[in-house]
Amino acid sequence: MDRLLEILHRNWGYENFRPCQREIMEDLLAGRDSFGLLPTGGGKSLTFQVPALVFEGITLVVTPLISLMKDQVDNLRQRKIKAVYFQSGMSPAEHQLAVDRCRLGKVKIAYISPERLGNKSFLIECGAWNVSAIVVDEAHCISQWGYDFRPSYLRIGNLRKLFPDAPVLALTASATPEVVNDIIAKLEMQNPKLHSLSFERGNISYIVRQSGDKNLDLLKALRGVKGTAVVYVRSRKKSVEVAKFLNANGIVAGYFHAGLPAEEKARVQDFWKSGRTPVIVATTAFGMGIDKADVRIVAHFDIPSSVEEYYQESGRAGRDGLPAYALVLTAPRDKAALARRVSTAFPAKDYVFRIYELVCSYLNVAVGTGQDKVFEFDFRKFVEIFHLSEASVKSALALLTRAGWFEFDDASSARARVMVTVDKHELYLFSLDKTSDDVLHGVLRACEGVFADYVALDEHKLQKITGLNAEQIYESLLKLRKLRIIDFIPRRNTPSIYFPQDREETKRLYLPREVYEEQKKRMIKRIDAMKSFAFAFSDECRNRKILEYFGEKSGKDCGRCDLCRARNPKKISPKTRGH
Ligand code: ADP
Repeated sequence: MDRLLEILHRNWGYENFRPCQREIMEDLLAGRDSFGLLPTGGGKSLTFQVPALVFEGITLVVTPLISLMKDQVDNLRQRKIKAVYFQSGMSPAEHQLAVDRCRLGKVKIAYISPERLGNKSFLIECGAWNVSAIVVDEAHCISQWGYDFRPSYLRIGNLRKLFPDAPVLALTASATPEVVNDIIAKLEMQNPKLHSLSFERGNISYIVRQSGDKNLDLLKALRGVKGTAVVYVRSRKKSVEVAKFLNANGIVAGYFHAGLPAEEKARVQDFWKSGRTPVIVATTAFGMGIDKADVRIVAHFDIPSSVEEYYQESGRAGRDGLPAYALVLTAPRDKAALARRVSTAFPAKDYVFRIYELVCSYLNVAVGTGQDKVFEFDFRKFVEIFHLSEASVKSALALLTRAGWFEFDDASSARARVMVTVDKHELYLFSLDKTSDDVLHGVLRACEGVFADYVALDEHKLQKITGLNAEQIYESLLKLRKLRIIDFIPRRNTPSIYFPQDREETKRLYLPREVYEEQKKRMIKRIDAMKSFAFAFSDECRNRKILEYFGEKSGKDCGRCDLCRARNPKKISPKTRGH
């Protein structure tokens, strides 16, 4: 049996490769640059994780999703694969441990957040490692033409320079042909082979419904399509309201948004995954890394801002290959709402600079200081104190981040982590009170590998094992840390701001054209494409419209979308027409 397949069986227990996986792996192992354009859930991670076990050196993976980074590393460790991650929110001890392991060659895969690549001393460390390959996950983030450009991604060039001979693999789930070419240029890839799967989702029916009463139409749709569902809305408040409406009308629904406490998020997701609450009403914060195959319908209660986002989100339906629906509910006033999103995303430049100044004073960062510091930044409190609009501040922070003045990280709901810092036999030398002793033993049971490295702490599990409540556990962990038996990094829910450079004088700030004017133009273009998908008066097959958007030619109509059905009503079975 061949090597790659053997690893797939041994470490993952999977039977066969998915389409394109093997080809990408072979390219990487042969030292060729390559590009993987595979849909979400297509199995992109494996394309570098399997070769990483064949390579002698380390595979570096750049990824922007800090929360997913930790999950991936935990997941790999469970499969006995040595992996570490680097991001600015780590404690110095944790960072040092990971650096040492890389230098000693004890690591196969190292995940790196792009902002780390701006740190000179970190790059010097990296230079000493034996690196076999560079992987750029979510590669569209490097393109200013993409819908999720992050300037910190441009720093990947620094890595390229350090390891000019390492092959580069770029991975993304959605990129228009224009963006693909831009990624190749930005990463200076050498004749990369493009491995892509069609954007065609043969089991999804795309449906757009002009709706006079979205609540009612949603209810009808969910009553008609049984099974698991995701309903996307654009605000936290709405997620609560719509879920309430559904529950009042006999449909069991939960809600999810970024503002929920971490335990609540985990609980809502678990209930949805296990089928206890089949319907989840969520903001777009929901979905990253969610892997549930039997979603029967993804409904957009509010219209997305781009075809890329729409495709990604609706693509969470029907992973099992069985028929599924992607429904968009539209109302005439949605057109104006779309236009408003542009002005919210691009507030006046003066406003943006004023926010920079306010944030710096709020964090006590004086002009000429701050470089390489990370600050906890209580976004909500900030908005409240200065009586600002949440949406506009968010946009200003995003623009400042894009321009590189500082980096605002909204999604740092980092899990608590622990490591035992004494030897196993030393544990018995301490005389502890009963609660702390129980907690320590709980940690040893709940966290595998906790003697060797920082391990994510599953607080629920620890509560179950020890029978103690969250507060008691927290206090004991602090006590154990004080005694230097463990190191314990508490969970963090506050967003953070990282300064890659010192605070600048406000009058010297600027937003480059490619960050402001160009981006604004592109956003308008993307919104227009979405408008034309949802509102245009044409009867072109919706599936075909999507494929064309991503540069694919599709000869035939899908026969499943609302427009195909309207054109060809005979094809609809009497049952689905409600006779
Ligand atoms: P992507 O990053 O493309 O969204 P992932 O890498 O997260 O997708 O993979 C999605 C899921 O499919 C994961 O649970 C992964 O373990 C699984 N998977 C990937 N490759 C295979 C395979 N060859 N056989 C079975 N399952 C696979």
